[in-house]
Amino acid sequence: MALERKLLGIDPMEESCFGALQTKAVVPFLRLCRQCVREDVERHGESYWHRSHLLPGVHLCLKHRASLLETNVPAKGFFKMILPQEAKSRKYRSSLRPATTMQIAQASLEILDPQHTWPRTADLRKLALEKNYIIGVYEIPALKLAADVMKFYGSPFLDEVRCSYEVHKKSPWPTLVLRASSVDLAPLKYLLMGVYLRSCRSLDSAPTREALGHQRPGPRTERAEYQELERQAMRAVQAHLKALIKAQQRTTVQALLRAAGIWERFRHNRDEFPMLAELVLQFRASDQSERQLGKRSRWRK
Ligand SMILES: [Zn+2]
Repeated sequence: MALERKLLGIDPMEESCFGALQTKAVVPFLRLCRQCVREDVERHGESYWHRSHLLPGVHLCLKHRASLLETNVPAKGFFKMILPQEAKSRKYRSSLRPATTMQIAQASLEILDPQHTWPRTADLRKLALEKNYIIGVYEIPALKLAADVMKFYGSPFLDEVRCSYEVHKKSPWPTLVLRASSVDLAPLKYLLMGVYLRSCRSLDSAPTREALGHQRPGPRTERAEYQELERQAMRAVQAHLKALIKAQQRTTVQALLRAAGIWERFRHNRDEFPMLAELVLQFRASDQSERQLGKRSRWRK
């Protein structure tokens, strides 16, 4: 009975999560884990297709830490009821690093859990901010992010899961998933961005205003230049705070100043930014200030 249910369809909650992940990405052929097949046959006399093996981009059985094999059974002809033990299978050659393969499989499994809430835009933005991908008032260095995500997954994998894009085109999906006003994108894209942001190294510093075409102050920065820098930073910090209050979110001093593109300079030349220092003190005492202690995973709420 249990096996039959597994063959014919799973409980509706899991079905809907599975469906959500599957919507726009296509898995052309069913996949199996040889050890799972063996165990299923021993236990039930038959084997069945495991949902967790059929998610887009998933090529690893987490139970056995074994690479999944690709069968000759088209996913669209699922109803034909060919059992895994009867299917022909071959090795899948992954272009991903083993660690990435593992992370995708784990994140996908988390999403199959009906209790799971999607990695939402707000969660991804927090992660992005921590890794210095967001500057100014939620200004995203789009080209950098799009290029880094492309480098991380590689185009063969992104093609496979139908999430490829052109790095230099306007608004590739890695930047769209971080936008509050984002249109409805395939859940898989949120998942891939979550996996990337969780595992990527933090950028050394947020791309600075100079990198965006503003004049770079030399080592002997004039007082007037500091004042102008401070004015710009104050504006950016205040706008950022306003957005945080509205969204009822918190942040750290470092993240706040990084977001304004002033962290490094402020840290080294604190005395040159008296007004900003005062604002930081006020911020520390406010509800928007997040202490770094007891930091929890940002993935789940
Ligand atoms: Zn297995």
